[in-house]
Amino acid sequence: MLISFMPLNENQMPWMGGERWDMDGVVEPLYLYDSYLRECEAEVQSVEDGRYVVLDRTIFHPEGGGQPWDTGEIIRGGEEFKVLYVGIFSGRISHEVDRGGLEVGDSIRCHLDWDRRYKLMRMHTALHILWAALVKSIERLKILSSQIALEHGRLDVRADRAELIGKLSEIEEAANRIVREDRRVIARILEREEAERLLLSYGENPSQLPSGERVRMVEVVDWDVAACLGTHVRRTGEVGRIKILKRASKGRNIDRIYFTTLDNYT
Ligand SMILES: [Zn+2]
Repeated sequence: MLISFMPLNENQMPWMGGERWDMDGVVEPLYLYDSYLRECEAEVQSVEDGRYVVLDRTIFHPEGGGQPWDTGEIIRGGEEFKVLYVGIFSGRISHEVDRGGLEVGDSIRCHLDWDRRYKLMRMHTALHILWAALVKSIERLKILSSQIALEHGRLDVRADRAELIGKLSEIEEAANRIVREDRRVIARILEREEAERLLLSYGENPSQLPSGERVRMVEVVDWDVAACLGTHVRRTGEVGRIKILKRASKGRNIDRIYFTTLDNYT
């Protein structure tokens, strides 16, 4: 199978949240270019303790940036090694498999657990949409942190609590309007100057960009733009209905908002 991807020339990619990811030209994270890639061929670059495998390229998203890791299989010939966990260790994407046997130089095939990944892509895109809906609806609201899991996501915000409670259903409706409009979601790696121009065009402050000469920007067209290294769907219609599950007080004017995505509008 021939896979086309854009090689990264930079030694480092900015990682959402301030961490830095040392690419070093070794691991090509193909999901940065195409989140819909379910399979790829790759070569084993190193194996630690028999079960921790680094490849020359991967479709497996590691745990990080508020997004859980992908699972699936690494296949060598007719042999299958289950991928249990994927993380970044010493700047490398490392795949933990269920047993030993893989060796340096092996030609293998990566296969994603697509149901899990696609659910995470929908949840992650919902996070971007809801984030912008919150910021647009409440003037002095600040988002403190965010995280997604398979069944729900959460946003921690600082805002006037009474105003937040009063506007939650309107915020949910604004997010679902963006879903219904089936807007394009564009993820691309831009030169820093282009990324700054894009942020300015959305009225955002370019000083929020992570460091690095190239930045991956994710744009929900005419709604939101952010620097992000996660996986997203191509159109907002794929997200499904966004539902705010609950709000919990976490401190003085700090609230946690839980949300999920539903498969249909019923
Ligand atoms: Zn994202």
